[in-house]
Amino acid sequence: MLIVGAGPSGLMMACQLARLGVSFRIIEKKEHPTTYSGALIVQARTLEIFDQMGIAEKAIQEGIEAHKINIIFNGKNPLALNLKDIGKGLTKFPNLLMLEQSKTEQLLIDFIHDYGFSIERQTEFLRFSQDNDGVTSTVKLPDGREEVIQSDYLIAADGGQSLIRKRLNIPFLGKTHKLTLFVLDSEATVDMQPNEICFSFSEKASTGIFPLKDERWRIDGTIPNELEVKNTITFNDIEETYSQRTHLNIKLQEPQWFSVFHAHQRYAELYRQNRCFLVGDAAHAFSPIGAQGMNTGMQDVYNLAWKLSLVINGKAKESFLNTYNAERQPIAKKLVLSTDRAFQIVSSNKFLAKRIRLNLVPFLLRVLFPIVEKRGYLSRYLFSGISEIGVHYRKNALSNKSSIGIFPFRSPKPGDRLPYILFDGINLQDKVKEAKFHLIIFAEDSSAGIYKVLAEKYKDILSTEIIPLNAGTANLYKSLGIKKDGCYLVRPDMYIAYRSNKLRIDHFERFFNQYLQ
Ligand SMILES: Cc1cc2nc3c(=O)[nH]c(=O)nc-3n(C[C@H](O)[C@H](O)[C@H](O)COP(=O)(O)OP(=O)(O)OC[C@H]3O[C@@H](n4cnc5c(N)ncnc54)[C@H](O)[C@@H]3O)c2cc1C
Repeated sequence: MLIVGAGPSGLMMACQLARLGVSFRIIEKKEHPTTYSGALIVQARTLEIFDQMGIAEKAIQEGIEAHKINIIFNGKNPLALNLKDIGKGLTKFPNLLMLEQSKTEQLLIDFIHDYGFSIERQTEFLRFSQDNDGVTSTVKLPDGREEVIQSDYLIAADGGQSLIRKRLNIPFLGKTHKLTLFVLDSEATVDMQPNEICFSFSEKASTGIFPLKDERWRIDGTIPNELEVKNTITFNDIEETYSQRTHLNIKLQEPQWFSVFHAHQRYAELYRQNRCFLVGDAAHAFSPIGAQGMNTGMQDVYNLAWKLSLVINGKAKESFLNTYNAERQPIAKKLVLSTDRAFQIVSSNKFLAKRIRLNLVPFLLRVLFPIVEKRGYLSRYLFSGISEIGVHYRKNALSNKSSIGIFPFRSPKPGDRLPYILFDGINLQDKVKEAKFHLIIFAEDSSAGIYKVLAEKYKDILSTEIIPLNAGTANLYKSLGIKKDGCYLVRPDMYIAYRSNKLRIDHFERFFNQYLQ
């Protein structure tokens, strides 16, 4: 397997393949990983994956959890939303984590090294061809020589400008916004607590301010209209008018990182072409609103890696890999629409968008924030959407005919992420940490014999565990809609593959075999 690109998506792909015992090479044209805050917000669903990998605690230690958002309109009328534990009860990670991209990448790089792999840097992917047997790629090595690499599959984690996507002639549908935005990491004099986020909107600017470690701040924003015509926009151009345009009492200082960019709203028409797979920004690009890009890229590879591993190990057919496109591409398509709407509202210079932003939005937020703070349905709905824990594959082929018996409406369905349920002092998700399928059986211990055969037969790819009904597990049985006995099969990416509220080993095996073949 060859992975091109060692940004967050390529690195995560390498981590997952290492966990699954699949050998790979990962190349990157840049000499060093990023040193900037870049993709700053790590969503709860990504932290759940980090938890499976044993690196979530470190991520939290190295980041900052946001406990409050302040929103300011024209320098006055601030509105505040208490974010602390906003996702409580829904995930082990109920807070919004700000972790600089440099630190996220370092965690993944360390993980890769711990498994004995390394990233081949200053190695540029040049061209490739593929046929039914494999992919032949040519790369330029650090000393300028070229090397030809044969691989069974090619993973394009080469970012928004993906050369592989272009060579495959896969359309990148959508648009690029004309509006120029800036981003910087800097020390600054800011009148804010170090665990608060601030968004500020005025007639002349929209800006977001995020705390970083060591008294630094990450600041994003729109640039003044008059600068749009300039070829090169510098930090000084922004700094000169920033405070006056935003009505904020902030003094920016010489930044460690300053960049201007255009937001994209795009998705690739296809995520797979024969032996090549697009992941991350090579497959989709969203405006930074909602902090979805890097997180979605990591979910892409979490979906794809175990499928590749099954096919490479001869446990599933090639066609199984088509489910990657079927499950992941519609998610990007939907995100392109939702993040585009949000982006227009917060940044557009058009008259109507400005009036919505400065007149209607404050009114709506004044009504909504107290409701969200009650931590009821609305807060759960918003958190599930933004944190990506609500992503599901219910309507996809792998979730078809995968439920036997009648379950209460609210119980989790095939295609749902295995929910966070605490029972007996344990998080159910902790039961599925190994990179395998997990069959969780709800039955008396005395039934264990029946499953021994199953556990032995599929031991390479399946782990089994029996959870008997008792006072400590009763709430788990209830949450999963199991009365007396039954089972849930969980995929290696922590999504529910199958559920049954009858113990029917024959049916389970038929399903499992058909699922794999
Ligand atoms: C200002 C800003 C803020 C953002 N904030 C967030 C956020 O808070 N949360 C979030 O989820 N997302 C955020 N994003 C989006 C996020 O940065 C991207 O979605 C993410 O970096 C994509 O990761 P990737 O690995 O797919 O691609 P990239 O990070 O672009 O990595 C691709 C890698 O491939 C390498 N490469 C390219 N071509 C070749 C080649 N030919 N040979 C070898 N190597 C090659 C590149 O050098 C690069 O290292 C933000 C984006 C911006 C611009």
